[in-house]
Amino acid sequence: MSNKISHQGVSRRHFLSSLGFGTAGMVLLGSYGFVIRRDHSTGTVRAIAVNFDECAGCRTCEAVCSAYNHMESVNGRMVNGIGNPALSNIRVYHYNPDIDIPSTCALCNDAPCVEACPVDPDPETGYRALYRDPELLTITNDRERCIGCGSCADACRELRAGIIRSNPEIGNPEHMCTLCGGDPQCVKYCPFDALSYVVMDDDRNLDGLSPRKLAAKMIEKLYNIRVTETQL
Ligand code: SF4
Ligand code: SF4
Ligand code: SF4
Repeated sequence: MSNKISHQGVSRRHFLSSLGFGTAGMVLLGSYGFVIRRDHSTGTVRAIAVNFDECAGCRTCEAVCSAYNHMESVNGRMVNGIGNPALSNIRVYHYNPDIDIPSTCALCNDAPCVEACPVDPDPETGYRALYRDPELLTITNDRERCIGCGSCADACRELRAGIIRSNPEIGNPEHMCTLCGGDPQCVKYCPFDALSYVVMDDDRNLDGLSPRKLAAKMIEKLYNIRVTETQL
């Protein structure tokens, strides 16, 4: 299998050196704050990779994600929203000792959230109320058909990092990454270059860790202190 990696400004060597093979960087894949999209027809994975060594915890990513994905109409023109971090699809967890873990939807290959949706597949499209977008491969909610049962959020919480949260009023799932239509704003505006948008061959194990587990690993690596998840 070839080693195709493409990214704005990040070479393959840079990516691999930070993929846990090098000491300077630590990039992990899966539900670590990664956005993973697999297209098995082409054997390709698209991902937002996080270099946790570089993250300063500034939360710029949360603001730009929220602004881009929650636009507002001003004089009939759609413009970026105010950037309320609570609406962001990427979330930065802060731990002590000082460790910051950006986390976002892993767009899991097996998509337990989609599997959990009880809405019958549409006879024409075959989609439940939660489905994988055929072009972007992102996890998408059909609000018209969603009954707000919360099963998808429960599945995400049980099996992954609890990325999906139910809207408190209507119960539909929120905070799945959109990849910003292929131009991830979090990557573009991270002031510390902690995030990378990568395209690579689907030839490695991309299982992930929860933010808490990852924080424990980072604390051991950076401070040489062993902590358990429950101590965080
Ligand atoms: S914008 Fe970059 S440095 Fe700031 S919290 Fe997000 S990932 Fe970390
Ligand atoms: S909340 Fe909506 S999308 Fe989620 S499982 Fe229930 S019906 Fe499906
Ligand atoms: S790619 Fe876009 S939607 Fe996904 S976490 Fe980054 S800013 Fe948010």
